[in-house]
Amino acid sequence: MSGNLPSPIPLMDEGTTAFWQATTQGKLLLPICRSCGSVIWYPRALCHDCSSTEVDWVPAGGLGTVYSCTVVGRGEGAYKDAGPYVLAYVELAEGPRMLTNVVDCDPRSVRIGDQVALVFAQTEGYAALPRFRPAVSQ
Ligand SMILES: [Zn+2]
Repeated sequence: MSGNLPSPIPLMDEGTTAFWQATTQGKLLLPICRSCGSVIWYPRALCHDCSSTEVDWVPAGGLGTVYSCTVVGRGEGAYKDAGPYVLAYVELAEGPRMLTNVVDCDPRSVRIGDQVALVFAQTEGYAALPRFRPAVSQ
């Protein structure tokens, strides 16, 4: 099982404070460009399509699909003794692909195309890490 992954405190800066503060309330905020409507990822207050810095932070629905995944046997840094665990790109229903973990399941059972639902892992800092678990209705 991979339910005991470490939850290191993420790096935060001016552009991501709003994003990380919301995670502590169980919300995954997506920055959406106010001028062109692009969903911006990774979180920052700068549109990669039109360079606008006018951004609205909109809560994601929390559902996604495994876009690619791998089972890590031996991690690095804080994850050194956490393996095996799943490192995955999850494509959110809103479009962005997040690098994340799929937890609460047998790591070897995770497949591309699986439906997954958002969960948060609280860190010791003022932030929680967005991760995913298999969605119930498979
Ligand atoms: Zn834009």
